[in-house]
Amino acid sequence: MTLQKKGKYWYGSTPQDIEAEVIAYSKANGYTAVKFSLSACACGSSLFKLESDEDEGVARRTCVRCGVIHFMGDSAEYASEAQVERHECICDAEAFELLSGIALYADSNDVRWYYIGCRCASCHLVGVFADWKCEAGDADAFLSQT
Ligand SMILES: [Zn+2]
Ligand SMILES: [Zn+2]
Repeated sequence: MTLQKKGKYWYGSTPQDIEAEVIAYSKANGYTAVKFSLSACACGSSLFKLESDEDEGVARRTCVRCGVIHFMGDSAEYASEAQVERHECICDAEAFELLSGIALYADSNDVRWYYIGCRCASCHLVGVFADWKCEAGDADAFLSQT
């Protein structure tokens, strides 16, 4: 596991590489992610299409293998207002591993900021494709829904 830079993009080989990128991105954002969860479908697949609306705080993933749609974290609460947009990699692929990262309020387990790190299944690009301020309460309950 090592992040490698090509041009202005980072590439990685494992979910740990996504975590490293989420940490770096979140530190630069001022709210460092400290808890993480890799999305996995009930069918066993960990590759998803991702749609999000950062303004409304909504992310929706669709399993590439079985097609099940899931709203990530507390997204379902805000879905009716959202205009989600599909994420594409710079290589045009749309299947990603998704690693959710959470920053917490001080001395609490409460969600403060939500980051969605992605790794492209085709070209292995790693990046944070969406993030927003999120006050969803207990981080472990939140992450169990990602
Ligand atoms: Zn599935
Ligand atoms: Zn790609």
